[in-house]
Order: sequence, then C-alpha cells, then structure tokens
Amino acid sequence: MAAQVGGMNPAVRLDRALRDRVPACNGDARFTEDKLQLRKSTVLLPICAGCPLFIECGEYAETARPPVGFWAGKWRGSASGKPKSKKTKEAAA
Ligand code: SF4
Repeated sequence: MAAQVGGMNPAVRLDRALRDRVPACNGDARFTEDKLQLRKSTVLLPICAGCPLFIECGEYAETARPPVGFWAGKWRGSASGKPKSKKTKEAAA
C-alpha cells in the first residue's frame, strides 16, 4: 500500500500532476524497456533531472515500487533486467 505524502496518496498526487504537466519522458520507450543497459541510465538521468514531475514521480516510485522502468532518475526493475511481473509503467501510472 502506498504511503501518504503530504496528506495525499502518491499515486493520486502523480495523477493530478500529470493533468497539468507533461513528463519529460513522454513517448520515450527507453524509460519502459525491460532491459536497460547501464549506459542508458547516464543518458536518461539528465532527462529526469529536468522533468517537471520529478518529485511526484519519485514519491510514487518509492512507495508503489513499480516492477519495471526508469523512474525519477533510477532504474526500478530487477538486477537481471527482467521485469518482476507483466505490469507496465503505463498501467501503474
Ligand atoms: S522524473 Fe519520472 S516522469 Fe519525469 S522523465 Fe523521469 S521517469 Fe519520466
């Protein structure tokens, strides 16, 4: 279960933020690849750093622990690069 952040569930907070702001990773499939090459994280990290949803995305990822994807500057998948389940980043948002 997701923790409440500032009195609001991080999933709700991220959903509301997405109504007003466009994520910097919008349409970029590299963020949801099952296997992320380590070198890509150095490419994706600066994109996250400039994203208007960085805080909300990070809060959500820390509490919901999505099984795949690159969220708020971190790869959230397994060490093997294989997803922990069939759940997708889009389904989790
Ligand atoms: S902070 Fe989250 S929403 Fe923004 S670019 Fe990174 S992964 Fe996408």
